[in-house]
Amino acid sequence: LDPEEFRRLGYAVVDWIAQYRAGLADLPVRPDVEPGRVREQLSATLLSPGLPEEPRPLTALLDEVDRVVVPASTHWQHPGFFGYFPANASLHSLFGDMLSGGLGAQGMLWTTSPAATEVEQVLLDGLAAALGLGPEFAFTGGGGGSIQDSASSAALVALLAALNRSSPEWQERGVDGTERVYVTAETHSSLAKAVRVAGLGARALRIVEPSPGSLAMSPTALADAMRADADAGLRPVLVCATVGTTGTGAVDPVREIARAAAGQGAWVHVDAAWAGVAALCPEHRHLLDGVELVDSFCTDAHKWLLTAFDASLLWVRDAAVLPAALSITPEYLRNAATQSGAVVDYRDWQVPLGRRFRALKLWAVVHGHGLSGLREHIRSHVALADELAGLVRADPGFTLAAEPSLSLVCLRVVTGAGPEADDNATRTVLERVNASGTAFLTHIVVDGRYAIRVAIGSVTTESSHVKALWKRLRTEAAGCLTKSSD
Ligand code: PLP
Repeated sequence: LDPEEFRRLGYAVVDWIAQYRAGLADLPVRPDVEPGRVREQLSATLLSPGLPEEPRPLTALLDEVDRVVVPASTHWQHPGFFGYFPANASLHSLFGDMLSGGLGAQGMLWTTSPAATEVEQVLLDGLAAALGLGPEFAFTGGGGGSIQDSASSAALVALLAALNRSSPEWQERGVDGTERVYVTAETHSSLAKAVRVAGLGARALRIVEPSPGSLAMSPTALADAMRADADAGLRPVLVCATVGTTGTGAVDPVREIARAAAGQGAWVHVDAAWAGVAALCPEHRHLLDGVELVDSFCTDAHKWLLTAFDASLLWVRDAAVLPAALSITPEYLRNAATQSGAVVDYRDWQVPLGRRFRALKLWAVVHGHGLSGLREHIRSHVALADELAGLVRADPGFTLAAEPSLSLVCLRVVTGAGPEADDNATRTVLERVNASGTAFLTHIVVDGRYAIRVAIGSVTTESSHVKALWKRLRTEAAGCLTKSSD
């Protein structure tokens, strides 16, 4: 494929994307497909008798995508997608992704693509300021940010840096079984995975109690747990405070947690994978109260900040900590720029060696929307969630399962026939809404009770889509009541 032919064919791909996005609302959000269907269909064309020996035209590929891929896809960019957390992939961010692929640079070291490194540094310094993170998290203030593939990886490298800081023996001997990591029952499972990957074993994970009547970590319980562990000869290595838990959007009190952790020298990592970007809006900045005291902070641009997966933003207050934990330099990576000490080599900030030029898609988003557009994006979803929460409050057939958090509303169906009937009805309503294809919802169990999560955040979701969802929730709930009274 030469560049001229690429130019011609590339328009067809852009046309395909534009058409897909324009027609999204007419597709069912989730496919009605049996396991193995895609393999069966694709094997018939792609593996019969084996992968094609000869090249085929691009149009044939696009036809197959239409025939096999689209009908078996969950459409995350659909305005009726309310599941998990959003994975915004704005069209602006696709421009950046194309540029990144076009350049094809691999930015493992500064010297392998100076621009890939420095664009990322500048953008993350700028975003740190826009989020109100404080100058210490910028390269210009001694800290710095990097784009990881996921919040899970961010948690892992934070833990590795914490282990390195906690013991001079770690690099030589590894872990010794005395390390302890503090989370709550609501903390994302990526922390438990990081603990496992780091070789600490599940016993290293301490589940700290929440404050009474809340789902947020109790700083007192944290301080007690760390003290008891330290007295028993164990080592509090890391505390993870979550700003916006996956289940209900609960917010751990970062300032008090950081103060409690300071007494034990534990690393504090803030996982604000979903909610952190809301701090772009001054009215939500209180969510980050106390962040200036922590060691690392992560938020996903690929969730609610319009940036196509993957782009998880991780800042540390000391730019030396990740390289100190992760840098290993074989001869083939040695170069004058690294040895000068004047550059950042992002390979030392992550587990893999190679890395894509992800900063371009983040740049394209900031460029195309402006900070004002990003704030508007967040505010519009928070307003829609307020609207939905108001409808839930006003309807005796429903109840809020937790206080709404930003654009996340958790609700239950009320049947008046007791908790078990309510749980069954709530589950049935969720299943029926999902089966309708008009919207997609996921669930959570809060205080032992089943609840529907409505995570508003798709790029194209508007008031009409939330109203349509509410109408369907009510219809399906009414259907459950009729059935149970038959
Ligand atoms: N942390 C929180 C609070 C999350 O909600 C999620 C995903 O929903 C994650 C971490 C993991 O995100 P990622 O897919 O970027 O690893």
